[in-house]
Amino acid sequence: MPIQVTQSSMPSIEEYINEIKSIWETKRLTNVGEKHIALEEKLKNYLSVSNISLFSNGHSALELAIQGLKLKGEVITTPFTFASTTHAIIRCGLTPVFCDINEEEYTINADKIEKLITDKTSAILPVHVYGNICDVEKINIIAKKNRLKVIYDAAHAFGEEYKGIPIGNFGDITMFSFHSTKVFHTIEGGALCYTSQEYSEKLSSLRNFGITSPEKVSYVGTNAKMNEFEAAMGICNLRHIDEEILKRQIVFEHYMENLEGIEGLSLPNKNTKVKKNYAYLPILVDKNLYGKTRDELLFLLEEEQIFTRKYFFPLTNSLECYKGSYNDNNTPVAKDIANKVLVLPLYSNLSLDSVTQICRIIKER
Ligand SMILES: *Cc1c(COP(=O)(O)O)cnc(C)c1O
Repeated sequence: MPIQVTQSSMPSIEEYINEIKSIWETKRLTNVGEKHIALEEKLKNYLSVSNISLFSNGHSALELAIQGLKLKGEVITTPFTFASTTHAIIRCGLTPVFCDINEEEYTINADKIEKLITDKTSAILPVHVYGNICDVEKINIIAKKNRLKVIYDAAHAFGEEYKGIPIGNFGDITMFSFHSTKVFHTIEGGALCYTSQEYSEKLSSLRNFGITSPEKVSYVGTNAKMNEFEAAMGICNLRHIDEEILKRQIVFEHYMENLEGIEGLSLPNKNTKVKKNYAYLPILVDKNLYGKTRDELLFLLEEEQIFTRKYFFPLTNSLECYKGSYNDNNTPVAKDIANKVLVLPLYSNLSLDSVTQICRIIKER
């Protein structure tokens, strides 16, 4: 059996059928029905946030966060992320300014942000990449001092805590993705969490064409509503989320034990300030010490039907669609890591025997 980099978690079919039955009674399939309302409430509790709005996906949520905050001009961000983060900035008519990342956690290097601030800068858009939490304290100080908004892309950080604070409570807005490959999912889906209640009406109406009452359209919104079947999937998955994360942790730790001490491989840091969700297992391959390049290791595993991913290569500042617009030499650390990184298969039902086998192939190369 081939081993993919990830596998979606699912409730039993009986549990899902049971959850969706009432949709046949209400005949309400979307537009903030009872499942949507219930999931919003449950997530608010689980994530310990004061405000949350659900969306059809994380990307739309991110675009609407940018629109909702009325950002203009330049946004300081990271190139070491999924295309979505950078696309959202550009699709909203703003200019991304790429800041390099740090070598330990691959998150935005907060010490390099201030140099990039100009009179056009309106916000910082960092990413808690792989669930590694950004330097939220330093970013907060910089933002306050320079009157910048902060939107966190927390697509990888569902359920995490930093120094005991749930991760949706930092910055002005935090975006979560509930895509089926993420730790918690609603098939497709996403959310925005925010501390300021004043955003609530606007963000919630932006997902429904900006409609605020039957005869009033207050904003130029879009259609980004989560439907009832997605919300029902979320309700089911949320019942099992703690078990899901625990199973991931066991797989993750089995990898760590088996990969420790292999020359030329760097493993994720053990950051004791973070309560992790074990979303990803990225390793760095140093070809001089390991004896093979990252790509050679990828092919070696692929021959054994084990599929890894080069998350995140290429950097978003060197994507083909942005050719000629940015220079990845301005973010040398990100460029170096993008050339070495490989994300290994990790999901809750991955057997420890498979992990042992994957690690043996990596060790023996
Ligand atoms: C998945 C992801 C997104 C986009 O989320 P969707 O729900 O797929 O639209 C954005 N940023 C990052 C870092 C992601 O991994």
